[in-house]
Amino acid sequence: MSAFNLDAALAKRRDDNLYRERKLLGSAQGPEVIVDGRKTLAFCSNDYLGLANHPEVIASFRKATDQYGVGGGASHLVIGHSEAHHKLEEELAEFTGRPRVILFSTGYMANIGVISALLGKRDAVFQDRLNHASLIDAGQLSGARFQRYLHNDPASLELKLQRSETERKLVVTDGVFSMDGDIAPVRELSTVARKHDAWLMVDDAHGFGSVGIGGRGVADLHDMSTEDLPVLVGTLGKAFGTAGAFVAGSEALIETLVQFARTYIYTTSMPPAVAEATRTSLRLLRDEEWRREHLKDLIDQFRSGCEQLGLELMESNTPIQPILVGTAENALAMSAALAEEGILVTAIRPPTVPNGMSRLRVTFSASHTTEHVNRLLSALEKVSKNINGIQAREKMKWQ
Ligand code: PMP
Repeated sequence: MSAFNLDAALAKRRDDNLYRERKLLGSAQGPEVIVDGRKTLAFCSNDYLGLANHPEVIASFRKATDQYGVGGGASHLVIGHSEAHHKLEEELAEFTGRPRVILFSTGYMANIGVISALLGKRDAVFQDRLNHASLIDAGQLSGARFQRYLHNDPASLELKLQRSETERKLVVTDGVFSMDGDIAPVRELSTVARKHDAWLMVDDAHGFGSVGIGGRGVADLHDMSTEDLPVLVGTLGKAFGTAGAFVAGSEALIETLVQFARTYIYTTSMPPAVAEATRTSLRLLRDEEWRREHLKDLIDQFRSGCEQLGLELMESNTPIQPILVGTAENALAMSAALAEEGILVTAIRPPTVPNGMSRLRVTFSASHTTEHVNRLLSALEKVSKNINGIQAREKMKWQ
């Protein structure tokens, strides 16, 4: 038998109900998509504002391909840094109220690049225990001493910081938590970090576009200056509806990333047409407040509907509205039953979330209508009755 024994690991993954299947998307993102050849009502994309298929964003993308072609062609430091990238950086700096911005090709790479450029093995990183995988991986790859504090708990962070003797300390949190939908107490975290001479980094991948006036995210919600929040990360593949990521901060921080972030230096720049499309989506995201207002109405409609159905939601007022169902088996069964009703909602299971906290991650987009939410609620009503049956049978097994 091969030392790798991949088949056994795959079989175990299946037995544990943790196996993931890829579905085939045959259309643009939107409320109704073609999945595996079937028309489906989807509540699982991160296209929170409905910009991924917006005609103006598409037009900007098309127009820019006439000027720039398709591929970025080289890394930013060679000859891949186009005028389109540069303009987008300047507009994002203005949008975030930061001196300067740098683009990365993905959010995953932004997080790895920043944390590895700022920290080495003599330093320490303090992370919320529910942070996104890219932040956790980044902390581990940096070689810094890695500590996790309790979720959204500044007192737990403070205890860890008090005991730390390292010089460079970086506190890292999601802005809006990707699997829970709740918002980090960034003001309090910043106060604690500053007291202990640490820097705060917020990855607001899910907050930009969906929270704050003009969609400026959690930093804006809490009126955080560059001193309060030196490292601010955003991604472009979610509410912006395009692809890539950015880091906003001081001139010195951004120049440090240009010079030292390996995931910036050693990779091809994002296609310039994506940057141009993002300039248009930034304008729509900032100016079309009605998208956030409509989202809020959909969220309220969904939450009160779930309450009537007795479904367990989490403390979230963002477009991420998970329904807690317990075991991975329940999550899978419910997701499959919803699919039978023509509705697509993803089952989120360990290791993405802790054991026993499997959930249906329902996400909303400004392109959904109240009628779509009604359809979701009716399907949930039907499906949850059957799941109660599954839960009851499960309980019996253990009695
Ligand atoms: N940070 C957070 C909080 C995320 O949820 C994600 C993606 N789901 C990323 C970073 C990675 O961003 P990207 O998809 O652009 O790599």
